[in-house]
Amino acid sequence: MVRSPIKFLSFEATVAELIDHSTKSWKRDPVQEIFEEEKALVILQTPISSLNSKDKLIWHGTKNGSFSVKSAYHMEKATKMEGRGQASTSKSFKEVWKKIWQLHIPPIDKMFIWRACQESLPTQLNLFKTKIVKVPLCPICSREEESILHTLWNCEVVKDVWGQCSMRLQKSTCSQLPMVLFFENMIKVLNDSEMQEFVMVARQLWLRRNSFIFKNKFLPPNCLLRETSLRLQLLKEEEDKIQTQKKGQQTKNSAEKWQSPPAN
Ligand SMILES: [Zn+2]
Repeated sequence: MVRSPIKFLSFEATVAELIDHSTKSWKRDPVQEIFEEEKALVILQTPISSLNSKDKLIWHGTKNGSFSVKSAYHMEKATKMEGRGQASTSKSFKEVWKKIWQLHIPPIDKMFIWRACQESLPTQLNLFKTKIVKVPLCPICSREEESILHTLWNCEVVKDVWGQCSMRLQKSTCSQLPMVLFFENMIKVLNDSEMQEFVMVARQLWLRRNSFIFKNKFLPPNCLLRETSLRLQLLKEEEDKIQTQKKGQQTKNSAEKWQSPPAN
């Protein structure tokens, strides 16, 4: 893992140095400089108390926030039960993971869609579930909870983008599903180049969503699609180059194997 050097803080620095105490808000630049993108997103969405009270450790297992062995035992038991429940109702989605690693797309896009299918992108709904934000609503349309599928497929503002993509992508519909089930349905109906397009557009939509929240910038659909089609074009050229090199190598090998008949 590559970590960017910490330019702003001393070795003994505490969280307080990342907070602007006059406005009770995070200092955006150092947070984004120090932490990886996803962690910075979560930190910047964490509300800061407007009261000047001192920090204290809170235990979620009890109502008064104090730790007790009994509550730890119950929490552990509940986690195990939850794990067993998931194991019996979920399947392994082997085809999904296999497809993700087989797709000819840049590693950053593979990692993105893998995290989306694992439900591990910091959407408002996921941050709400982990008690980081108080409202799970989509920060762009404010109409529905911001699940991963909402932000990448169902939100009103992304429909314009998908409406200008390949025909079969336009026709794909879905209800409220976990992302992994949606992706599983997509791989049944789309070919590889449509899947490439789907994943690369989806990541651009996620980046646009982040840029809207943190920089107040919102890329219009045609700019977003132009950017994606340039990336797809580069990918295609790279694929063609590899194919040409492979063919050249095969021709060379067969020429080397061939020997002229001995002269009489
Ligand atoms: Zn929305």
